[in-house]
Amino acid sequence: MTGPARSGSLLPLVTLDHPAIEIDLVYATDRNFTGQRLYADNRARLVPEAACALTGVAERLADQGLRLVVLDAYRPVSVQRRLWTVRPDPEFVADPAVGSDHSRGVAVDVTLSDGQTQLDMGTAFDAAVPQSHHDRSDISAEAQANRAILRSAMRAGGFDENPFEWWHYALAGARGFPLLDA
Ligand SMILES: [Zn+2]
Repeated sequence: MTGPARSGSLLPLVTLDHPAIEIDLVYATDRNFTGQRLYADNRARLVPEAACALTGVAERLADQGLRLVVLDAYRPVSVQRRLWTVRPDPEFVADPAVGSDHSRGVAVDVTLSDGQTQLDMGTAFDAAVPQSHHDRSDISAEAQANRAILRSAMRAGGFDENPFEWWHYALAGARGFPLLDA
């Protein structure tokens, strides 16, 4: 965990860097619903409070033999606008006019890995389908169990889930943090 991210800005963000956390930012690749690479690098950034809480979650999961995989973290407002242009669906993308908790540096998209492969969560990350909602019974029992492990670990760490996206969590009190644009 190092100091404020540069890039010409003085945003109050730190870069996630912990052996129990795997970073796999989908928007740093073209493996996302826009088909475009939206980030210049694979560095995940959060405000210090969220980074500290997430590190605690990852350490507890590591005790269970699991790795926390971060698929997205801080997201500049400009990138949020691009996502909204491609998918203007408030169930799965926050309207930039309202603001995403990702742009506050307090939200993360996460999944679990056994150290080799990512666990079955019933749908792909960012799948805009009803099966991405929590508490679905039309996904496999294994996927339901994997989601439950992730949710209880994140809740215990102080994060709230999004009912529509099994992967999305925001630090409690997220709306009290300002929107940040790099
Ligand atoms: Zn998210």
